[in-house]
Amino acid sequence: MQIAVPKEIKNHEYRVALTPTGARELSGRGHAVVVQAGAGEGAGFSDADYQAAGASIEADVATLWGAAELILKVKEPQPDEVARLTPEQTLFTYLHLAAEETLTRGLMQSGATCIAYETITGADGGLPLLAPMSAVAGRMAIQAGAHSLEKAQGGAGILLPGVPGVAPAKVTVIGGGVVGENAARMALGLGAEVTILDKSLARLEVLDDRYQGRIRTVYSTADALDKASRESDLIVGAVLIAGAAAPKLITREMLADMKPGSVLVDVAIDQGGCFETSRATTHAEPTYIVDGVVHYCVANMPGAVARTSTQALTNATMPFVLALADKGWQQALADDRHFLPGLNVYDGQVTYRAVAEAFGLEY
Ligand code: NAD
Repeated sequence: MQIAVPKEIKNHEYRVALTPTGARELSGRGHAVVVQAGAGEGAGFSDADYQAAGASIEADVATLWGAAELILKVKEPQPDEVARLTPEQTLFTYLHLAAEETLTRGLMQSGATCIAYETITGADGGLPLLAPMSAVAGRMAIQAGAHSLEKAQGGAGILLPGVPGVAPAKVTVIGGGVVGENAARMALGLGAEVTILDKSLARLEVLDDRYQGRIRTVYSTADALDKASRESDLIVGAVLIAGAAAPKLITREMLADMKPGSVLVDVAIDQGGCFETSRATTHAEPTYIVDGVVHYCVANMPGAVARTSTQALTNATMPFVLALADKGWQQALADDRHFLPGLNVYDGQVTYRAVAEAFGLEY
C-alpha cells in the first residue's frame, strides 16, 4: 500500500505520525512509505533516518498527498489538507470531530474514509490511543508544578521532596484516572506527600491496592476539596466526565484560603478546566497568577515533549496502522470490534453517533 506521512502544519505541532521504527516495519512488509521532507524534525527524526528505514522522502506536498492510499497524521487535517483528500483515500489521525462542524462537513465532502484515533476502544473499556498522551501530560504536570513552585516563577519557593530535616511538599491530585495516576506516581517518585481525590470508589480501591498506602486516597467531596486547597502546595486537576465540560472544583473563593505561592496545574483545561480561575495558556507563556496562586493551564502539554510523545503515540497506533496497511480498512475494521468505532466518516456520511448527533446529521 502507498502510505504518506505529511509534516504536521498545525501551529506548534512538532509530533509526527510515524517514527523511522514504524517506517521500517511497514516497508519490511512490502508497503511504500513516503514521508514529507522534514516531517520528523520536530521529534528528532531526520529524513536520513527514514530513508535508512526504507521510506522515501518527498518535498512536494501535492505529490505526497496525491499518490497516497493511506495518510497518517497526528492532528486533525487543516483546511488545506481537507481540500487535498479524495474518496479513494483513508485518513488515520486524531479528529475530535464532535466540536468541529466545519471540519466534519469538509471531511464528508471529501468522500475520504476517516478513522479517528480517539474513538478506538480498548478491551478494558479505556481509550488506548488517548491514554499515552494522558500519561505524558500527567507526568509533565509534576515537572511543570515543581518548576512553578520556584520563587522566580511566583511560587512559594518550595522543593517538592524537601531535604533531610525539611518536610516534603504536599501534592493533591484531583481525578485518579490515567493523568492523575501518572501525576501521583511522579510526585511520589520525587518524594512528595501525595493525595489522590476521586469520585469513583472503584478507582480509589485500585490505586490504594497498587500503591499500598504510599499514596493517600480520599473520596472527592466539597469538604475534601476545601481541605486540599488549604493544605496543598501543588494541586493537579485531572478530572474527566466523558462528553461533558470539566466541573469547577476549586472556586475563586477557595483561592483566598490557599497558601501564597501555591500552584494549580489544570490538565483538564482541554475540557474547559476544573478550576474556576483557569484559562488556557501556551508553552510560550504557560503560567499566570491569580490571588497569589500560580496557574499552569497549557492545553497541549504533550507537544512540549514531542519526541517522547511521538514515540508513545506511535507505539499505540502501530498495530492499527499495520492492520490498515496489510488488510485494507474494510477488512481491518471488520476483524476488530475495538477498531470499528474509530470510523468517523465514510463515503460522505458521518458514521460515529456522537458526531452525527452533535450536528443533527443523518447517522
Ligand atoms: P480518565 O477518565 O482516565 O480519568 C478521569 C478521572 O476523573 C476518573 O477516575 C473519574 O472518576 C475522575 N473524576 C470525575 N469527576 C470527578 C470529581 N468531581 N472529583 C474527582 N474525580 C473525578 O481521564 P484522563 O485520561 O486521566 O484525563 C483527565 C483530563 O486530562 C481530561 O480532561 C483530558 O482531556 C485531560 N488531558 C489534558 C491534556 C493536556 O495537554 N492538557 C493531555 C491529556 C489529557
